[in-house]
Amino acid sequence: MQLASLFRNHGRFCASHPWEVIVATLTITVSTLSFSLNSNSIAEDLCRNGKSCESHQDKKTRGDVIVLTTTNCLVVVCWLYLQFRALRKLGSKYLLGVAGLFTLFASVVFTLSAIRLLKQDITGLNEALPFFLLLMDLSRARKLAKFALNAASKDEVIEKIGEGMATLGLTITLDTFVESLVIGVGTSTGVKELERMCCFGCISVIANYLIFMTFYPACLSLALEFSHGSSEYRRMWELNRSSIDSSSFKPNPVVQRVKLIMCAGLMLVHFRSRFFGGIDNDQGLSIQSIFSQESSIYEKWWQRVLGMRPEEVIFQYITVGVAVFLVLKYALWEKHDDTGSKLAKEFKKDCNKKEKIVTSNGTVTDAENHTEKLSANEKNTNESSPSVPLKAGREVVARKEENTKGEEAKPQFFIDTNSDEESDRDSKSEETADRKIQEREKTLEECLEILNNNEKSCDLLTDKDILRLVEAKHIAPYKLESVLNNPERGVSIRRQILSQKLTNVNALEKLPLSNYDYSLVIGACCENVIGYTAVPVGVAGPLFLDGKPYHVPMATTEGCLVASTNRGCRALTQCNGVRSAIYNDGMTRAPVVKFPSVGKACEAKLWLDEPDNFEAIRKAFNATSRFAQLVGIHCGLEGPLLFIRFKSRTGDAMGMNMISKGTDAALRCLEDAFPEMDIISLSGNYCTDKKPAAINWIEGRGKSVVCEAEITARVIKEVLKTTPEDLIEVNYDKNLIGSAMAASIGGFNAHAANIVTAIYIATGQDPAQNVESSNCITTMEKHGENVRMYCTMPCIEVGTVGGGTILGPQSACLEMLGIRGANVSSPGENARQLARIVCATVMAGELSLLSALAAGHLVRSHMKYNR
Ligand code: NAP
Repeated sequence: MQLASLFRNHGRFCASHPWEVIVATLTITVSTLSFSLNSNSIAEDLCRNGKSCESHQDKKTRGDVIVLTTTNCLVVVCWLYLQFRALRKLGSKYLLGVAGLFTLFASVVFTLSAIRLLKQDITGLNEALPFFLLLMDLSRARKLAKFALNAASKDEVIEKIGEGMATLGLTITLDTFVESLVIGVGTSTGVKELERMCCFGCISVIANYLIFMTFYPACLSLALEFSHGSSEYRRMWELNRSSIDSSSFKPNPVVQRVKLIMCAGLMLVHFRSRFFGGIDNDQGLSIQSIFSQESSIYEKWWQRVLGMRPEEVIFQYITVGVAVFLVLKYALWEKHDDTGSKLAKEFKKDCNKKEKIVTSNGTVTDAENHTEKLSANEKNTNESSPSVPLKAGREVVARKEENTKGEEAKPQFFIDTNSDEESDRDSKSEETADRKIQEREKTLEECLEILNNNEKSCDLLTDKDILRLVEAKHIAPYKLESVLNNPERGVSIRRQILSQKLTNVNALEKLPLSNYDYSLVIGACCENVIGYTAVPVGVAGPLFLDGKPYHVPMATTEGCLVASTNRGCRALTQCNGVRSAIYNDGMTRAPVVKFPSVGKACEAKLWLDEPDNFEAIRKAFNATSRFAQLVGIHCGLEGPLLFIRFKSRTGDAMGMNMISKGTDAALRCLEDAFPEMDIISLSGNYCTDKKPAAINWIEGRGKSVVCEAEITARVIKEVLKTTPEDLIEVNYDKNLIGSAMAASIGGFNAHAANIVTAIYIATGQDPAQNVESSNCITTMEKHGENVRMYCTMPCIEVGTVGGGTILGPQSACLEMLGIRGANVSSPGENARQLARIVCATVMAGELSLLSALAAGHLVRSHMKYNR
């Protein structure tokens, strides 16, 4: 238990200080390397070895070198392919593979430096490559990655890596100990080349262990932190979060005991060989002496073999043997491990058998029961032509036969040079076999096996199969997209499930399904997706704002709205446009906390007012994000309840998720000072999000913007078809007196919500925040002949990153305003610009509607455009 907690703490440390651990490991490696380089450079050494190896190389025929190099390359390629393939099963295309490779690279460099530091010769290291790879098994890296991917949030990754280390650490340590002892036995055999190889092996195993225990968890934690929120991360997380069973990784006590006994035995062997002389170890263990031997050169291979010393034969041919063994292992055994693909293969074989029987007999025959018949049919395939009724699968067979016949008719040389056609045919026949598997009626167990074990299993399952798996609760409906690894198919199947439950099964027919990137939606914007809805997007503008023209996208189904706003834009643009200013910027979140007494609640409020305490809270808050900056705290008190309204800058994000995270961290800090404090809710409605509230109107929330414009009498007459006096009167009586009569809060405007909501939907904002964002007061005053107009909006809650802004159409609308995504040079500037555009467009909408009301046009234009 104590060891487990030791490993847990170690894992947590590495994961929570990734940069420190990575930099420390690299520094140690580099300094070890340079330390050894000072005494004897690797490059020199390699040259020296190169030279000394020339004689060594001379001993080898060109054929030997080619065979050895080819096998080594083959092993490396197979090894890399298999490691990546295994990591892909976790749902990662590149991320984990890159982390694994990086670790491997660090491990090799570390091993090299260690070897050099111990003054070992690296001659022949390239020949021992397969041996090296055999020792560097990345399966433990996969296991640890599985733990990390089980984390539901970024913060939990550290905990999960700690848990993984606690579970795997002891087994891996013991394995490393046993491995190095076993390999270490080879260092006292007296066979020089073997001794050298085992020496490498031992150092490699230990270096690999050290890197895995330090560098890898740090790398993993960093990679997951960077990729958090990306579609690859979401896919990996979805795939792995329910599949981990830490008990399956727990060491078997019996095996552990056996390993310990082995360790004891091996240590005895080492002790005996080192202190009482090993087998044929007449020169002792002087490592230098191991490398000093020269051997004579033979021209011919058989002469060389005969003349070789036994250790040379062992070294060269065992190495090749290990390489061949690895290739065979990868090529044959590991593939067969995959039960899913085994099943798929069986299916394919089955189908192929059936195909051939169909073509020869014209009837479907059960291949399993007619094996003999099958071989006879196979022989006759080219002789009989299929003049039988063909099903989909059979048609392909018939075509295939025709092809075969065609090929046979061709001259032999033609077929030989047409390898492309052959591979085409192969892939076509594979596709046919896949389709056959799809079409075949499968039992639930078969479906389940395909689902669980085959990489492209879900392509082999029909929608009907998947519906059965959902019905039998083997697939949770909400996970369809990630399980199928095909978002659109997941959405489509969910629709089918839903349609079956509706009174009108065709109810969803007109809800669009295709041509949409659902991968952006999953885990970020919407759950249980059944399609998407299209809202028409109109454009209003150009609107001159602070000297620049903007074409504003508005998504709405209210006729007249865009046309009216457009008229307002035209009027404003003809009068030098709109000028804007931002007088406040800060998103708010206000948790409610409870104290045992009102005295304590007051004490906490006063504590928060102290600049030093605010600074401590600010540090904790800001540490949760690169862009969140706490700018103030405003408290409200009721009895023992304290409502703490945190106000923060949030860069280019609207910031609700961001600020919630920061608030949580700040509360932990406050809890340290007031342990008796009880957190009732992270949101105490004092924020106030998506509900009308005077606090937002007074204090502001998000961006507080004010716009002004001067509309000339000419434009009021020609474009707006009214007079300055009528316009001012309507605004005063309606927007000020009328709203005061209605005791409105923040509703001193004609229809700000119309414009706010249309822009919010078009640009991917949270549309529910139109409640507070539409707070607006519109005022007008006479200025000479003209009218001066002001719109003040204290709570515009917008962002250009996060939320719905990542979706294609929405980001296109942001792009047309020139403010898509994060503003790299000045974070927050894009979101602020969007807030200015919202306020200015509201002004255009206000101007046009008030003018229409003043001129009595409203009903007329609605009748014209809405009906
Ligand atoms: P978010 O997508 O949750 O967070 C923004 C992300 O963008 C952060 O990871 C941030 O990095 C990153 N980022 C990169 N560049 C940035 C930049 N220049 N400025 C700011 N951030 C940058 O977005 P959010 O605005 O906080 O939350 C929006 C979502 O919250 C919407 O979907 C909305 O519907 C929803 N919402 C949540 C609540 C709630 O109570 N939680 C309430 C209302 C709405 P860091 O990791 O360094 O911060």
